[in-house]
Amino acid sequence: MDIATPTDYGAIAAGLTFPSEAFINGRFVAARSGARFTNLNPATAAILGEVAACDADDVDAAVAAARRAFDAGAWSRASPEARKDVLLRLAALLREHAVQLAVMESLDSGKTITDCLNEVGHEVPNFFQWYGELIDKSFGKVAPTDESALALIVHEPVGVAGLVLPWNFPLLMAAWKLAPALAAGCSVVVKPAEQTPLTVLRLAELAAQAGLPDGVLNVVPGFGETAGQAIGRRRDIDVVSFTGSTEVGALFLKYASESNLKPVGLEMGGKSPFIVLDDAPIDDVLVSNAVSAALWNGGQNCSANMRQFVPRSRKDEFLDKVLARVAALKVGDPLDPATEMGAMVSADHQRRVLGFIETGIGEGARVVAGGGALEGLDGYFVRPTVFDDVAHGMTIATEEIFGPVLGVIAFSEPEEALRMAAESVYGLHATVFTRDIDRALHFARRLPCGTVSINRFSEGDIKTPFGGYKRSGSLARDNGTEAIAQYQQTKTIWIGGPEG
Ligand code: NAP
Ligand code: MG
Repeated sequence: MDIATPTDYGAIAAGLTFPSEAFINGRFVAARSGARFTNLNPATAAILGEVAACDADDVDAAVAAARRAFDAGAWSRASPEARKDVLLRLAALLREHAVQLAVMESLDSGKTITDCLNEVGHEVPNFFQWYGELIDKSFGKVAPTDESALALIVHEPVGVAGLVLPWNFPLLMAAWKLAPALAAGCSVVVKPAEQTPLTVLRLAELAAQAGLPDGVLNVVPGFGETAGQAIGRRRDIDVVSFTGSTEVGALFLKYASESNLKPVGLEMGGKSPFIVLDDAPIDDVLVSNAVSAALWNGGQNCSANMRQFVPRSRKDEFLDKVLARVAALKVGDPLDPATEMGAMVSADHQRRVLGFIETGIGEGARVVAGGGALEGLDGYFVRPTVFDDVAHGMTIATEEIFGPVLGVIAFSEPEEALRMAAESVYGLHATVFTRDIDRALHFARRLPCGTVSINRFSEGDIKTPFGGYKRSGSLARDNGTEAIAQYQQTKTIWIGGPEG
């Protein structure tokens, strides 16, 4: 189906069947305990279905299947061309099923169909294609030696990778990790977030159809404290890649230190700044970037630019224009292609976001738009909220809200903005608007974060590494050729050897 064709997504939703079991060793299976959890559509509070609640026993079964597959070599030692063919076939199957997958993603998460079509329909297949194409274009090295020897530097897959995922970009985060892990030749055990288990289960089925050998890709839906912790602690998992909160990321380091010292790649929270310097025109481009930087995906974005630093002398102009844009935002039914903001992922998360808004008001910030739940709908919606008079030290300016909240912090001098922007335990992303190339470079160099975007809110794309400084991440990076390194080890082979 052509994903550009306007479609009745409600009718597609009504015809969907949802995966409900774990995917282990190439087939759907119930959790060994028989336990199930209820999966909701957060935009309607309707029950989508019951899903296998995997625990440590199921993780054991998945890890055993992954290890057997890895040792057998049908994937880990397959030719580069064979692995590439499978990933390209998977990309094609994902494109073929893009609309159904996008609708499933929207129902499961409350995200807008427009974003799901873009992420699931374009970005996700592109990831498998890009990493598939990379497989037979990646070379090892030969070190300089005298001619009696040859020193080869080769990369080998690490083994079994545990991938633990968040709910805000369910299939996209799966693709960010799965595509390079599979390209490297690893076997994987994936735990989706309990709120959004569906699309990665469907992807596993499509991967089998594409020819991925049994046991290479296993999916264990379930809860963090059971399935997630088991992945962190299994000695037979060789590497973990995690995206989620900083608190849970820290737990994975503890699990690793108490088990097999597996390396842990962490992509975690943020409190990213959006900085408007006084030479930047406050035009439509700046304003629409400011609003989407804070509110896109309902603010449920690790690199959301919630802290917006604006020159005191330009604040009224900035706020007037931002408020006009926010007032025009269409919030509501995620399956309506006109909708720009959907639901929060769960009732718990809606409560958490509303709690932050109350705290902001209590600490003296002033709500100038939104400021509460969106009434009249059964789902878990929060109105797009703008705070004026936010002070740098307030809770809403230091803790990650992960909801549709934009806070304006006024400054007098650019260096004051730079100091406040940099002063955070997080360091994921920053945006700077200026027409002055010297200032742009100065800010880009001095901001302690993994991605800086100038004159545009952009998190980059498949080709550029993504990750955080400080408590936003470990040294590991997702995306780009850098991501492969998380799933490979480096071996040196000496033939002959240095004299001695
Ligand atoms: P989360 O609570 O940290 O959950 C992430 C994953 O960890 C989920 O699969 C979760 O399972 C699992 N988990 C929870 N408790 C666990 C435990 N005790 N042991 C092992 N695993 C556990 O985060 P979230 O609520 O899903 O996502 C929001 C957070 O992710 C935000 O803080 C955001 O900034 C961050 N994030 C970061 C990035 C990035 O690239 N840096 C991208 C997206 C999101 P259950 O959900 O099943 O409990
Ligand atoms: Mg759900």
